[in-house]
Amino acid sequence: MKLYSTNNKDLRVPFQEAVFNSLPADKGLYMPEVIPQLDPLFIRDIQQYSLQEIAFQIANVLIGDDIPADDLKAIVEDAINFDAPVKFLSEETAVLELFHGPSYAFKDFGARFMSRVMGYFSEKGEKLLDVLVATSGDTGGAVALGFLGVEGTRVTILYPKGKVSKVQEEQLTTNGQNIRALEVNGTFDDCQALVKQAFNDTTLNAELRLTSANSINIARLIPQTFYYFWAYAQLKAQGVKDVVFTVPSGNFGNIGAGLLAYKMGLPVKHFVAGTNVNDTVPRFLQSGAYEPKPSVQTLANAMDVGNPSNWVRIQDLFRNNLEELRGIISSYTYDDEETKAAMDELYAKYKYIACPHTAIAYLASNAYKAENPGEYASVFLSTAHPCKFPDAISEAVFFEIQLPDGAKSLYGKEKLVEELGVDYDSFKSFLLENK
Ligand SMILES: *Cc1c(COP(=O)(O)O)cnc(C)c1O
Repeated sequence: MKLYSTNNKDLRVPFQEAVFNSLPADKGLYMPEVIPQLDPLFIRDIQQYSLQEIAFQIANVLIGDDIPADDLKAIVEDAINFDAPVKFLSEETAVLELFHGPSYAFKDFGARFMSRVMGYFSEKGEKLLDVLVATSGDTGGAVALGFLGVEGTRVTILYPKGKVSKVQEEQLTTNGQNIRALEVNGTFDDCQALVKQAFNDTTLNAELRLTSANSINIARLIPQTFYYFWAYAQLKAQGVKDVVFTVPSGNFGNIGAGLLAYKMGLPVKHFVAGTNVNDTVPRFLQSGAYEPKPSVQTLANAMDVGNPSNWVRIQDLFRNNLEELRGIISSYTYDDEETKAAMDELYAKYKYIACPHTAIAYLASNAYKAENPGEYASVFLSTAHPCKFPDAISEAVFFEIQLPDGAKSLYGKEKLVEELGVDYDSFKSFLLENK
């Protein structure tokens, strides 16, 4: 696979280069030169295959020229070693649960696959690959657990002190091995600024082989297509013909992968994006003017994004054609009160406990259905286990959460973390002194 930049369609870089760069120097986003089509017979019979078999087929049509089939199969089987089940709540409404990986969030798909691809492309004897990542909670956990023990790599995570939940903090700080956690006395924006400055620091880059685990990395996008096909396979096995996916969206990487799957031949009737009050994309779809805003803090904090970094990719997939975009994506926005009410409703109606992001998808899925009645399955994506967002969930419901065994086993584990101020010099010293 060769990739161009959304800012320069004449550029062609190999997959390996796109993985290590994350983004082109011109600050566009990497896009596949050609979007390969899956064999229609494979789609026709897709209900016969397992998640891992489906994942391999997709990865192979995309990057089969870059990684030989046997190696790619091993990467897929190692990375995608947990399920993503579709569960029906009612006759027509189902939830696709993406939180059965090690960090209990859908970001495990992207982080696990990317880490193994990076490990695969790192040659023996090469300088250690230093992954720097700033997190508001979910990304850091997925990246830490994704890279844990991957040879030739080391991860440094920066998170804002006191601003991540207990389970999230345990996932960030109890790993040891090749994972280091830095607790920053500041906000998520401060963490991001430190990481950004490190990438732009020439002396630091001469000493260390730095890379980012950014959500715009093409190796994070690809594995997120897998579960759309897998959900379709599960639905097809139950006789469902048409499906609408509703995706809780922040940076629009998740729904972007769904749209890429669609372009590769997955039959999807429509996509719906649900957002919190950070509504740049819903406003764009309405007005046609893309006007990003500074992000606002909400209960669904993994979606507090004012300028969604993957949106350019989606526009590129549809050649910037607004009418085409409107034909395939609808979007709805909800505030914290509505989100809370939806979590309570899901529990009251279905005994289903959802995280705030998932609750927003539920609302958007219902809103679309009300405006577009018809015979299709409405599938909303559940992006995290509710135990990761205790503050957002009403107490009565929170007590009913079944904690996953893995989360229980984190209790009482030693916290391995260093405190850091927001000044760049101490961060740089830390990196240089702990090479
Ligand atoms: C990251 C995240 C999202 C948003 O996904 P995008 O790909 O950024 O749109 C939604 N829910 C949860 C729980 C997340 O961690």
